[in-house]
Amino acid sequence: MSEPLVARMREFGTTVFAEMTALAVRTSSINLGQGFPDTDGPPAMLERAVAAIRDGLNQYPPGPGVPELRQAVAEHRKQHYGLDYDPDGEILVTVGATEALAASVLALCEPGDEVIVFEPYYDSYAAAISLAGAVRRPVTLRPVDGRFTFDPAELRAAVGPRTRAILVNSPHNPTGTVFTYDELAAIAAVVQEHDLVAVTDEVYEHLTYDGVEHIPLATLPGMRERTVMISSAGKTFSVTGWKTGWICAPRALVTAAQTVKQFLTFTSGAPWQLAVAHALREELPWVGGLRDELAGKRDRLMAGLTAAGFAVYRPAGTYFVQTDIRPLGFTDGLELARRLPELAGVVAIPTQVFYDRRELGRHFVRFAFCKKDEIIDEAVARLARLHG
Ligand code: PMP
Ligand code: GLN
Repeated sequence: MSEPLVARMREFGTTVFAEMTALAVRTSSINLGQGFPDTDGPPAMLERAVAAIRDGLNQYPPGPGVPELRQAVAEHRKQHYGLDYDPDGEILVTVGATEALAASVLALCEPGDEVIVFEPYYDSYAAAISLAGAVRRPVTLRPVDGRFTFDPAELRAAVGPRTRAILVNSPHNPTGTVFTYDELAAIAAVVQEHDLVAVTDEVYEHLTYDGVEHIPLATLPGMRERTVMISSAGKTFSVTGWKTGWICAPRALVTAAQTVKQFLTFTSGAPWQLAVAHALREELPWVGGLRDELAGKRDRLMAGLTAAGFAVYRPAGTYFVQTDIRPLGFTDGLELARRLPELAGVVAIPTQVFYDRRELGRHFVRFAFCKKDEIIDEAVARLARLHG
């Protein structure tokens, strides 16, 4: 048989998260690779999901999502960000942010259209853009004074006649950058000048530290009309396995995404939707506690990685610490990540796989801190062996 996989997907293979988690399992290593917490979300939310199943919420929910969840998302957007979205037509529930991103890109892009992404970018962006037959145009985030940011001139230079959309992830995985108002304003100016659509990935919206607050791009003047705002429950409520996400956008953009979504998955899992509706309304104090805990874990992991000899970037949000491996004498993060189980019994993510221009990220390795303190401590004790 000839190659079964279409050409546009051949560059993708297995995701780095699956590869590295399998490596951790196979070698019994501590997994600081794939970002998922090792403790559960708020107990009352978990009980809601159980109750929803027992109460028979087990058939197809409505295409746009269970009304209670759409209403709860609308209230949350209003309360936190002052944004108004009509639960009937401006909110769509999806199978995680991943499906929301894919449906949006597939809905917006004709073959040959270009999509701007900030590299390093979350891996599913590249795949969604390829599936659409579109082309990615990377703008690189580089460290400036210990924080990853972009050059507005580079962003402007990335726009061309075929540019259709820009994907904006803040808080940013894997660098931990939370875009400032000025950075967002630079993006907004480009979007408006060139009549683009912004697709925002805000899955870490509540996981910011040191008093840094997440600012949605849609709150900037003129941007609500041009923004497909995406988030999900996975990170906020420590339920990455529930795959419950949502899109908030003007009606025409939601209709476009929904037209695609209905043929990807039709609807999204019903019991989780009721539980997440409860969580958005009642569990944000719990999320405040999670955020404080994660800030402590970040500091713990940063201190340990620094002591182990890594150069460490301080993230203002997300689950991840970005490191530079060169002070330890290594140069290639992919090579190191593959050897790390044997060298130290730990698994991490080589950041270079999130770049189009891999050489720009060759020396970076990402570690996750959404783990129990004793796991972090054991991991850094093991990593201290790398010193040599
Ligand atoms: N975007 C980013 C930046 C992520 O880190 C992740 C991973 N959780 C996702 C999207 C996917 O989110 P979900 O699990 O809700 O599909
Ligand atoms: N978002 C998670 C991370 O960046 C992993 C998601 C996945 O496994 N696809 O680690």
